Amino acid sequence: MKIYNYAAGPAKLPDSVIKQIQEELPSVHGSGMSVLEISHRSSLFENILEDAKNDLKELMGIPDNYHILFFQGGGTGQFAAAPLNLATNNHKIALLDSGHWAARAGDEAVKLGFEVDTLASTKDNHYQSLPHLPKDTNGSVYDYLHLTMNNTIEGTAYHTPEKLPNTTLVADMSSNFLAETYNVNDYGLIFAGAQKNLGPAGVTVVIVRDDLVHPVEKIPSMLDYNLFVKKNSLYNTPPVFPIYAAGLVLKWLKDLGGVSEMQKINEHKSGLLYDFLDQSQMFSNHIKPSDRSLTNIPFTTGSDDLDAQVIKAATDHGLMSLKGHRSVGGLRASLYNAMPVEGAQALVDFLDNFEKNNKR
Ligand code: PLP
Repeated sequence: MKIYNYAAGPAKLPDSVIKQIQEELPSVHGSGMSVLEISHRSSLFENILEDAKNDLKELMGIPDNYHILFFQGGGTGQFAAAPLNLATNNHKIALLDSGHWAARAGDEAVKLGFEVDTLASTKDNHYQSLPHLPKDTNGSVYDYLHLTMNNTIEGTAYHTPEKLPNTTLVADMSSNFLAETYNVNDYGLIFAGAQKNLGPAGVTVVIVRDDLVHPVEKIPSMLDYNLFVKKNSLYNTPPVFPIYAAGLVLKWLKDLGGVSEMQKINEHKSGLLYDFLDQSQMFSNHIKPSDRSLTNIPFTTGSDDLDAQVIKAATDHGLMSLKGHRSVGGLRASLYNAMPVEGAQALVDFLDNFEKNNKR
């Protein structure tokens, strides 16, 4: 039975990358040493790191005045790193509350003593559409505006950024990094945990504009952008294996034609599922169509019991990890970059059959 994994993260990696890792595991680049054991100070790893940076730069069109850094600590680590590094003037951040992860970012900044203004929220409609900036922000001055570009749990995405005049934009791209094109110039800081579109859990990519990087007095070294720039992400032992695997995924994406090509494929995959859901009598997706995510698609039958039956039958059929997040319920299919079109089609075929065989 062919297995498809629709988990929200850690998520599917390209089959060819898994195979390559398997083949190269005993001896990376013909060195006779495993990537699991090489020194992060070796020229072998230096090449892996530089290759990953260059490929990412090319894929996202990252201008020369941006740094590409690799951290540990996940997206959650960056919820602390972003205010500590960037909110040094006013200690004040603006936020659009588009769901769970936006709120978590705000909570972390508050915990560290920063002021957070939530300028709009769609909590009242269960985050089924995106909040937008109000016309008037009462002249408040913010160090930056925090945006969650793709709301992994709720299934919404900003396909173009919201912009606050004269205010740096910070983008959490954890769940749609490299899944659709964004213009890096629009942002002061972009961050993303690797474990959805880029590689295994354990590394977090930070792309930060040079003028925002400066010495900060009271900051843990492990979150310090200035230090990581100076040390080329090698202040301490970096996550060698996740960076290596991410490098392979970047090469895979380049071979596939890059991010714009990937976006077309993602639009096709998600379109297959949305089109099915929109005509189904049994299943529905409640997200405002223009705000729908390309990567995370929640849906439900409207009945907890029936949802559970669908998940069980799907699992028996080799379609894994379709349970929705506990805060939303229902089902959720994550169609990240490594999910082939056949995986989206297999899910649609299964749901269609289930509906036909279980007419209410
Ligand atoms: N931001 C978004 C949009 C996420 O989806 C997640 C995790 O799923 C996070 C942040 C937190 O990431 P991590 O688990 O790497 O800390």
